Amino acid sequence: MPNTQTTPLDRPDTRSRRERMVERQIAARGVRDARVLAAMREVPREAFVDDSMQEFAYEDAALPIEAEQTISQPYIVAHMLEAAAVQPDDRVLDVGTGSGYAAALLAWLGDEVYSIERHASLAQSAGERLQALGFENVEIRTGDGTLGWPDAAPFDAILVAAGGPHVPDALRQQLAIGGRLVMPRGDRESQELVRITRRGERDYDEEKLGAVRFVPLIGEQGWLEHRRQGEARDRREGRAERQTTLAERIRAASEPLPDPDDPASGAMFDRFADARIVLLGEASHGSSEFYRARAAITRRLIEQHGFRIVAVEADWPDAAALDRFARDLPPREGAQPPFRRFPRWMWRNTDVEAFIGWLRDHNANLPAAQRVRFRGLDLYSLGASIEAVLAYLEDIDPKLARTARERYGCLTPWQNDPATYARAALDDRYRGCEKGVVNMLGDLLARELDHAAEDPDDWFDAAQNACVVANAERYYRTMYHGAAESWNQRDTHMFETLQQLLRHGGAQARAVVWAHNSHIGDARATGMGRDRGELNIGQLCREHYGDQARLIGFGTDRGTVAAADDWDEPMRVMDVRPSRADSVERLSLDAGRPRSLLDLRPGVHDVLREELSQPRLERFIGVIYRPDTERWSHYSEASLSEQFDAWVWFEETRAITPLPGADRPGKAGLDDTWPFGL
Ligand code: SAM
Repeated sequence: MPNTQTTPLDRPDTRSRRERMVERQIAARGVRDARVLAAMREVPREAFVDDSMQEFAYEDAALPIEAEQTISQPYIVAHMLEAAAVQPDDRVLDVGTGSGYAAALLAWLGDEVYSIERHASLAQSAGERLQALGFENVEIRTGDGTLGWPDAAPFDAILVAAGGPHVPDALRQQLAIGGRLVMPRGDRESQELVRITRRGERDYDEEKLGAVRFVPLIGEQGWLEHRRQGEARDRREGRAERQTTLAERIRAASEPLPDPDDPASGAMFDRFADARIVLLGEASHGSSEFYRARAAITRRLIEQHGFRIVAVEADWPDAAALDRFARDLPPREGAQPPFRRFPRWMWRNTDVEAFIGWLRDHNANLPAAQRVRFRGLDLYSLGASIEAVLAYLEDIDPKLARTARERYGCLTPWQNDPATYARAALDDRYRGCEKGVVNMLGDLLARELDHAAEDPDDWFDAAQNACVVANAERYYRTMYHGAAESWNQRDTHMFETLQQLLRHGGAQARAVVWAHNSHIGDARATGMGRDRGELNIGQLCREHYGDQARLIGFGTDRGTVAAADDWDEPMRVMDVRPSRADSVERLSLDAGRPRSLLDLRPGVHDVLREELSQPRLERFIGVIYRPDTERWSHYSEASLSEQFDAWVWFEETRAITPLPGADRPGKAGLDDTWPFGL
């Protein structure tokens, strides 16, 4: 059993991701064997996948490896290991080395491991990996594993990681008396996991352990290789046939949608106008149709239905600049120009500019108290929010301003690059920042009566900024502990900000929210919630407001999108790949409407809702788009009809047009006077 505690890849964050994988994907599904769970905690799965797959190493899925093969889903590996009941003295045969991950786990659990792989390239790289990780009790060779490894037999346990039509005789023969063989058996499409236990010379027990899907076991006592292509074609055709029927039902239920610029398009959403909150999603942060459709729906909700808050996935101080412009207030003195951090094009684009221009015209005819507000829900503005609180207090309460300066000073070193705070905050010396920012928020809120009387709007703005500072500090601190914690922190902040806005807007206040589908669509109906323990603002709205919150998702098949290759990289216009055959987007495409609205509220199309509650892949493109690893970077499972109350479809979408300079990192060419032009 090698010491895998300190492999070069084994950083604390991957260790905690592994802990979570064991807890949520494996133990939660009933694997109880303490040694198997310990092995899964110790062996670093990320060391067995390609660089481009690193971030998915702890997903609840099989992942692609070389030679068109896969590394199996962690839960299935654990399930097989438990069934094989490998003991510390056992000699084990592993058929289908693949990446070498299962071999490593077997080596951790047993004494000697013999592993066979038919692809020489895989056998070689698996061997190198295992050696680098310090496993010395594994021997790997290239060959046909259906014939076993007679020289090393008998084996106390045999694991076969590919599906065959029957259990190869050679493998049965090479089992020791009392030995266990675990393998998938069935056709090429789907199999059943079976455990064979050898009781005597000719006496074998057989148990069935559930349905599984593995790559085929190709070999003398397995499948023939040449049958593959014809079968793959049959499969594709069979699937297309089944989908067409569901696609037809989607077509029948979905309503053609006019172009977003046609006033009739907003009216199609009147049915959602009795809600208190209408949340509008988007399947990417860079497709013009999504922005224009959201603007059209929002205009309608404002003009015809009295919505007075537009709350968006942007930082509070940035949105505040647009809000002041839209309400004909002067720019706040000393405030930084808005939307200067990556990704600028998300808000500095012609579609947002057109909407803000419309909002300003609309507001111009209204008394100040009735003007529509444009607000930011996000929390990435640590520096700008600190400055905003200080500027406010300097004027109104210089004594408290001094205290604020002292407390916020703790965060000064990280103000411009808060992500690095995550690491520093692990050190006890920096714990003080947390107390300071929380106390600051408390002190400000306690003075509401004194200060809000002067100018309630200014006070509210400062209080929200103090809240952003407190939550951002917590967000960056939790970032190091895992993606789910910090994501939950961020979406909870968004939800609490929305609640503040509704409270501040009075009993009748109603809001439209603009954010990505991943924030809007109920997380409980997606892999985010089901596998990763993540929640989102859509879920929280449903939990608190029931059907007074309506969640509307958006999707597309193909076209172009404004996105970057990586964080802080320049924006590019990229081609969006046509959707995958097994995705919800492909179903929408097959329904054959170029633009449509599918009403998914309970009671409207219940039979179809039931069908669409089956989990299917759905595409999520944020500000980064990676077409090469699209399946792993952008698709995730979701139950569409549970995720959303409606699905808006644009078969083809076009990239947004950034305002000058918004497509490049750095400040060059950026109009710092936007939106005021002053
Ligand atoms: N256990 C592997 C891991 O942890 O990465 C996953 C194995 S993958 C699901 C199945 C592997 O079985 C593939 O690498 C495939 O090439 C291999 N395979 C299929 N038929 C085989 C055979 N007859 N002998 C040896 N390997 C075979």
